[in-house]
Amino acid sequence: MKKKKVIIIGGGASGLMAAVSAAENGAEVTVLEHTAAIGKKLLSTGNGRCNFTNSELKDPKKALRHYHSLSDRSLAKKVLDNFGYDDTLKFFRRIGVEPKFRSYAYDDSRYVYPMSDQASSVLRALKLQADMNNVRFITSCNIYNVTHINTSPSTSLFVVNAENAAYRSDALIICTGGNAAPKTGSDGSGFNFPCAFGHTMWGFLPSLCGLKCHGSFFKAIKGVRHDCRIKLCMSSSGNEEFEEKNRLQRHMEGPADNFGFIGDNKLTESYESFGELQFTEYGISGIPVFQVSRYASIALKIGKTVRVIIDMMPDTSEEELKLKLDERRELLADRTMEYFFNGMLNDKLSALVTDMAHLKPQLGIYCLTDEDIDRMCRLIKSFSVNVEDTTGFDNAQCTVGGIDAGEIDPDTMESEIIPDLFFAGELIDVDGDCGGYNLQWAWSTGAIAGKSAACRQKRKIYPEIFENNVME
Ligand SMILES: Cc1cc2nc3c(=O)[nH]c(=O)nc-3n(C[C@H](O)[C@H](O)[C@H](O)COP(=O)(O)OP(=O)(O)OC[C@H]3O[C@@H](n4cnc5c(N)ncnc54)[C@H](O)[C@@H]3O)c2cc1C
Repeated sequence: MKKKKVIIIGGGASGLMAAVSAAENGAEVTVLEHTAAIGKKLLSTGNGRCNFTNSELKDPKKALRHYHSLSDRSLAKKVLDNFGYDDTLKFFRRIGVEPKFRSYAYDDSRYVYPMSDQASSVLRALKLQADMNNVRFITSCNIYNVTHINTSPSTSLFVVNAENAAYRSDALIICTGGNAAPKTGSDGSGFNFPCAFGHTMWGFLPSLCGLKCHGSFFKAIKGVRHDCRIKLCMSSSGNEEFEEKNRLQRHMEGPADNFGFIGDNKLTESYESFGELQFTEYGISGIPVFQVSRYASIALKIGKTVRVIIDMMPDTSEEELKLKLDERRELLADRTMEYFFNGMLNDKLSALVTDMAHLKPQLGIYCLTDEDIDRMCRLIKSFSVNVEDTTGFDNAQCTVGGIDAGEIDPDTMESEIIPDLFFAGELIDVDGDCGGYNLQWAWSTGAIAGKSAACRQKRKIYPEIFENNVME
């Protein structure tokens, strides 16, 4: 029997998974990648160690709280049901990648890495598996346009016109990623393909990034890493005209603690996160900031005021802290304020709190009033900074927005608009939290799209089945 020809545009995480999946299911696969090498972003994941999934995804009830969408979050649930955490571990073990599990403070889940602690070993295993299944890779391939023709009621022909050649296939999988970290190749150019085929686009905004904050004091505390609880707060109204035009606010979900469809449009005012906060020259970064950055991105875009409240001592209640500071006032009465927090709080943060409480370093600790203690308590437990911007796509790990998730069949990843056209990865309007969730999305969608593109025999009825579609 003639092999089905499948073209994949984009040789990143989802494209590689789709290539292996399609080839293992009997297709003749060609991957077209516009940069000189495949898997560039994959190499930089997890600080070069590749956090490729997360044990939290074992429990479907917990899984969905880590995925978000501006259009339709239910796609994520169905996709993860079809190819989830266990399937991912099984797949990677089969191609030689053994998992290593890591836990971090303030997070019960276990982050999964390759035992080698090298992202390069994940890329190598995928590439080898693709090579062993005769996948053809064409790099430095600049694509001009893609044409779709219905050759019969049940078959398609795609023609991908590139700089030096035209490539034909029976099915096409688009895996071109989002806008985050464009230096790795995912520069947003891939959104042109689904867009020209009539798909609705949402976004695009950076996620899993740092936040630029107002305050000249950041220069003095840059480099400090401190375990904190942060609360992102935003004003309830922004620029109404903008909100209406962009339909962003209508689709913002509340804290994702259930399997609820996001269409219920709850707008919550704050999002919390814990972990090691990094103070930088421009503001704040680190995993707790990444986790709330998508909400900051959206809120800033629609003109809301955004603030982060930092709790520098999350394990101590305000009452306990007050008692402790009272006690220190007596214990350390013969010293100056310079040493009040010594051994309790990071030196640079101590200096900041003392300064913000309008207390001179040379002041004798015995001089502290109850009001001074209250003020320092409040500064430590709820230090407030105004957010001015995100650090943008150059420094982001993920994209908010993409192809409307409601326009994709979750069982096959096939377009609901164009037959035999499939999508996988970050270019779909689903974004995950930091912690292995985005690569899991790439593996799940890639595996499903690859298999469906290779195997699908029976096509469902499309309304405009005999119309030709040309993408420019
Ligand atoms: C620094 C960093 C660290 C990260 N760490 C983690 C982590 O530890 N765990 C985790 O889960 N996620 C992590 N992520 C996110 C994760 O890497 C992405 O979500 C994931 O790679 C998306 O896979 P993808 O296949 O959709 O896109 P990509 O991996 O971005 O691949 C897209 C590919 O398509 C190519 N392409 C784009 N446009 C075109 C075009 N027009 N024509 C041809 N080819 C095109 C690109 O060059 C690229 O090779 C990280 C991201 C960054 C930036």
